[in-house]
This record gives sequence, C-alpha cells and structure tokens, in this order.
Amino acid sequence: MKKSLWQTYSDSQLIELNRLTEDYKVFLNVGKTERECVTEIIRQAEQAGYKDMDTVSELKSGDKVYKAWMGKSIVLFNIGKNPIEQGMNILGAHIDSPRLDLKQNPLYEESGFAYFDTHYYGGIKKYQWVTIPLAIHGVVIRKDGTKVEVSIGEKEDDPVFVITDLLVHLSSKQMEKKASVVVEGESLDILIGSRPLVDKEKEAATEQILQILKDTYHIEREDLMSAELEVVPAGKARDCGLDRSMIMAYGQDDRVCAYTSLAAMFAVNNVGRTSCCILVDKEEIGSVGATGMNSRFFENAVADMLDKLGQFSELKLRHTMANSTMISSDVGAAYDPMYADVYDKKSNPFFGYGMVLNKHTGARGKSGSNDANAEYIAKLRNVFDKNEVAFQLTEMGKIDAGGGGTIAYILAQFGMEVIDGGVAVLCMHAPWEVTSKADVYEAYRGYCAFLQDMK
Ligand code: MN
Ligand code: MN
Repeated sequence: MKKSLWQTYSDSQLIELNRLTEDYKVFLNVGKTERECVTEIIRQAEQAGYKDMDTVSELKSGDKVYKAWMGKSIVLFNIGKNPIEQGMNILGAHIDSPRLDLKQNPLYEESGFAYFDTHYYGGIKKYQWVTIPLAIHGVVIRKDGTKVEVSIGEKEDDPVFVITDLLVHLSSKQMEKKASVVVEGESLDILIGSRPLVDKEKEAATEQILQILKDTYHIEREDLMSAELEVVPAGKARDCGLDRSMIMAYGQDDRVCAYTSLAAMFAVNNVGRTSCCILVDKEEIGSVGATGMNSRFFENAVADMLDKLGQFSELKLRHTMANSTMISSDVGAAYDPMYADVYDKKSNPFFGYGMVLNKHTGARGKSGSNDANAEYIAKLRNVFDKNEVAFQLTEMGKIDAGGGGTIAYILAQFGMEVIDGGVAVLCMHAPWEVTSKADVYEAYRGYCAFLQDMK
C-alpha cells in the first residue's frame, strides 16, 4: 500500500501546500459563478503578465495571452519555443457548478410571502438545498444594454435566502416518498420576503420586493426577463477537520481543478510546447451553448493565436490541435466508507493519495467516455514519476452504479490525446463539497509537471 501524502511531505512542501490551499479558498469565495470566476481569472492573469489577445497584433515565444468569451469562458496561452504545429500541452477545467437559476418571470407572491421561482442547473439531489442559507449572484441586463451586477448574501450583514422544508411533525407522508421526489423541482423556490406594504391589497409582498429592487439596483420587474441570477449556498470556503486536512466549500467541482490548472499555468516558464489552459462554462449541463466546450470558441482562439504567430492555415490549425496533449482537469469520486457498497476499493481514489487519473468516465459499458490510450498513460506515468507526483488510476465507483461525464471526449474529437485528471471529491454536487488539501496540492504539482515536461 502506498503512503498517504501527509506522511511524505517535507516542511517546505507543507508551507507551499498551505499557501496554495489558502489562495484556493479565496478564489472559491470570489468566484461563485462562472462569470465571477472569469473576472477573477482575468485579474490574476494580468497580474501574472498575461495580456488580452485581442489587444496584441503579433505573438512570439515567451508571450502570454488570454482570450475570454462572453465573460463566461476563458483560454490562456503561454507561447512555447517549439513550432506550434507540434501541438500544445492543454489543461481544461470547467468553472460552472450545480446551482439553482432564477426563472425568467421569477417573482411571485403566495399567502403573504414573496418568492423567486427557480429552475435547477446541473445534477443535484434536490432535498439537499432546503433549509440552508442561500445567496443570489449574477447579472441583470437592462433593455438599453447596461448591466447590473448582483451579489447578495455573502457579506456578514447581508440578508440570506431560504428554501423551506416541511416540519418533521407533519411529515409522516413526506417521509415515505422516494428521495428523488421528496422535494420536487417546482418546490425549490426561494423565500425572499414576508413584509407586505400596508397600503396595498394585492401582491403586496412582491410590490415591496420590486420597490427594493428599484431603489437598490434601479431595475424593474421586466428587467428580470434578461437576467442571469444564480442561487448558490451562502458562505465561505472553510477548513474541515480537527487536523485541517480538508476544505469544505461550494463549487469545488470543478473549481478545484480550474484553480490548480490556472496556478500551474502561472508557475511554469520557458516552456517547450505551448502551454494552454481552458476554463469553460456549461459542463454541468452537457457542454452546450456558445460558452460550452462544444462551441467553436476554443478552436477560434487557437486560430487567432496561430494568425498572430504568422502561422495560420487550416492545415496548421488541424495539426496543432491533433498534435496536442490534454489533461481534462476534472474531479473524481473519492472513496467514502459510509457508502462503501457503490465503490470498488481497487479502483477508486482515496483522500490524500494524490492526483486522480481516469482512463474513462461514462456509464455502463464506458458509454459517453473518452477512453484514453495506453501509450498516452505510459507517457504521463513517466512525466509524473520523474517529478515525484503521486497519482491514482481510478474509475467512478462500481460498474453500473451510475456514471458521469467531462469535457474530455470533446477535445478528443480533434484527434489529440486526452485523459481525465484531477482531484477526488467527497459529496460531489452537494451544496458543500469536501476535498483533501494534499490532493489539491498534488494536482497542482501534477499539472505543473505536465505543462513543463510532456513532450
Ligand atoms: Mn466536473
Ligand atoms: Mn460535475
């Protein structure tokens, strides 16, 4: 049996681990939506010497640029010394997480309460979202195109919101329901007020809310039609455990891999193969839309980059993509002794034992997965062993227990080598997810090794 990483780290490694995970918690706190993540990533990238690719007319080896797309996805390039046609080393993670989105006519009133109607985003256990403090993050776009940024529920003196649950005393019928329907999708509406204006008879509670929206944000009810308001758990990332070995936070799938990929991107210099980091939206609903991985925005950004290198042709673009190697940086399902019967101990990742590599994700007979090549896994083993990176070759749970997907198969369509590699998570997709700090650090070390040494 391999050793837990905690038994192997030197004092200086523990200092680096602590610095990385403290910065990671700050990233989680400022980036609770894909838009907030992109804003923060741009801020950090510019601090690290990256320039907006649109403002640069020519590129050469050593240049660092980023290209954001619709404020929800972003690509970073660190131009290497090798001919670009020989391919890039790509890290790709997603920055969207499961949550509740407001519907487009969200505001309504019932029995003196005002509510926002929601529609859940991504795979959630609906019963987990009741009776926890919730925050609203997002944007409202007025008809004239002006944008209002909203964030309510994170500051100490902000109000929070709640989805109610039935008191146990009256739950005899509810307690007999299946977990999938014990709280239904249409019941996930958030309670936002209960103080009717005295001089109004109808819709008094919503009138009050509208007045507050108008006074605070200068928006009208109609403006909510063109809004993207996301309901997320309120509160900050915290250390977890008496030994502080873990992090508990919302949205670690997949911001744990997004953050460590980004940190690795900033850490490597003088690369041979061009380094690339993709941080993308919409993975949790199938990588759809203009900002999802299935969109052409990434290919377009690579085409732009080639053009600015004076290297663009359709053929060179295809070669660049096909000759690239990628780690689809996404999370794995950590072994949980409380639910041992869905795991295969021989091929599931354990907390504190290193980066998770998944040859395939998917379900049933590997359906919907990217089945990475043995030759590529051998190359990765070589890179990780040379850099003393601990990794675990894993699968998601027992065969036929369920399954999941990532962006891996989409990049594989260009003919490049791709494997899933990231951090094991407990309570994945729950409002609060848990990771091991050692695994966060080891993923960062693995990503650095990959960007620097994958040939
Ligand atoms: Mn994920
Ligand atoms: Mn997910």
